[in-house]
Amino acid sequence: MDLKQLEQVASHLAKRPVTIRYQPPVWDGAGGAAYKTKTGAALIDLNPGSDPLINLCHEAAHICVDWASMERTDIWKMEPRSLKISPAVKASAQTAAMESRADHFASIWLNYAARWAWYYMRPTVFESKLAALVEWPARDVESALKMWAEQKALEAIGGKVKD
Ligand SMILES: [Zn+2]
Repeated sequence: MDLKQLEQVASHLAKRPVTIRYQPPVWDGAGGAAYKTKTGAALIDLNPGSDPLINLCHEAAHICVDWASMERTDIWKMEPRSLKISPAVKASAQTAAMESRADHFASIWLNYAARWAWYYMRPTVFESKLAALVEWPARDVESALKMWAEQKALEAIGGKVKD
């Protein structure tokens, strides 16, 4: 796993420098985790047992859109898998909204990578997808956020968004 390449992609998508550790997150059972360190740096853990691209996109989305509400913390220094996510936090509406927004961004990026990988012709599809993501037009964050808001509004009135 070329972490430098993954960091380049994560930093581009998250719009700030991201460091990546290829190790299980401090949260037991999580495929990935994003942290804002005490000094205000962005850090992502990717669990080696999970799909790196899916988790990278999901965690980069948190850093991209939830950064202002993320608290500075030292928990990333703890042993991997040493914390449990509390059931109350897991079940909260705020968590559900944050997670669904991160998934929304991740699916936009993953679809983009799948669609444009052929163009880059790297030795592997995985590397081609990374090459595509590094060139994802960053201005699209605004339209992705708007799409998410519209989708939520439609869901609230029982409508369904067409592809
Ligand atoms: Zn998440």
